[in-house]
Amino acid sequence: MKCKRCQSKAEVQIRHGNSAFCRGCFIFCFQRQVQRAVEKEKMFTRDEEVLVAVSGGKDSLALWDALNDLGYRTTGMHLALGIGSYSHISTQKTEAFADNRGLRLITARLEDDGLAVPTVTANTHRPACAACGTLKRHYFDRLAFEHGFPVLATGHNLDDEAARLLGNVLHWQVRHLGKQRPVLESTHERFVRKVKPLFRLSEYESAVYAFFRGIDYVVAECPNSVGATQLIHKEALNRLEAAMPGTKLSFVQEFLRVGRPAFSGHVDGTPGSCERCGMPAFGSSCAFCRLIREVETKRQRRTSTSTASENH
Ligand SMILES: [Zn+2]
Ligand SMILES: [Zn+2]
Repeated sequence: MKCKRCQSKAEVQIRHGNSAFCRGCFIFCFQRQVQRAVEKEKMFTRDEEVLVAVSGGKDSLALWDALNDLGYRTTGMHLALGIGSYSHISTQKTEAFADNRGLRLITARLEDDGLAVPTVTANTHRPACAACGTLKRHYFDRLAFEHGFPVLATGHNLDDEAARLLGNVLHWQVRHLGKQRPVLESTHERFVRKVKPLFRLSEYESAVYAFFRGIDYVVAECPNSVGATQLIHKEALNRLEAAMPGTKLSFVQEFLRVGRPAFSGHVDGTPGSCERCGMPAFGSSCAFCRLIREVETKRQRRTSTSTASENH
């Protein structure tokens, strides 16, 4: 098998594009796709400082590596979730990546606020991934705003976007469908623009890129994600992709081109501000504060029950 671009020996085969690449050409093409996404979708300019949300996994580190190599101005932001050794290793790998490349990294620890994911999930009825998602969104949005970044980039790839789209379609979440885009413009003074430069690149491609670039990332999936609905959607899409290569890309691409405009009338209006934290909210409090209230109430009830039983 020969490289499609330079005819030397290919090291990787991309089935959906029916092509193969050598190491150097694959890296070049991956980065070019990232740059095209950034430019075509008007995600950010070279003058803007981009905050990159990095988990320590292959996608976010590949994104940070590519943006940095392409000459964009970047700072990483890592949220230590407090999920045992999984989080510990994630933080270590992220810090090592930043150190090796001399990149600026902001790390926030949920534990410091008494909000480690296991503590939160023990005090709510919500599924772990849902609670974790709410925490992440809040911290990323808040830190991006507080540190004055104009834009927040995340490592969501084609597989993530296709799985999210399938989930939204299966439940006809018209509001979510209306706003599923690779760029979300700011709709509130405390909401910075959010972008997904890897939205056309598959999980496989970002894994190959990370490998070729010698990126040391966390291979393990989050222990909480076992059995998560999104993984079931991903498995279903992988089966479709295996039988019909290119399905994921056309599903997402054609949705953005043809499908999404049909739902644009369903998006929520402009958000107001949360009474408690000032972040964007529909209603009096934001999703994060509603979750925190639930956790605090449950915790207090537990403490008072245990104090009461001690007194007897
Ligand atoms: Zn080549
Ligand atoms: Zn709030």
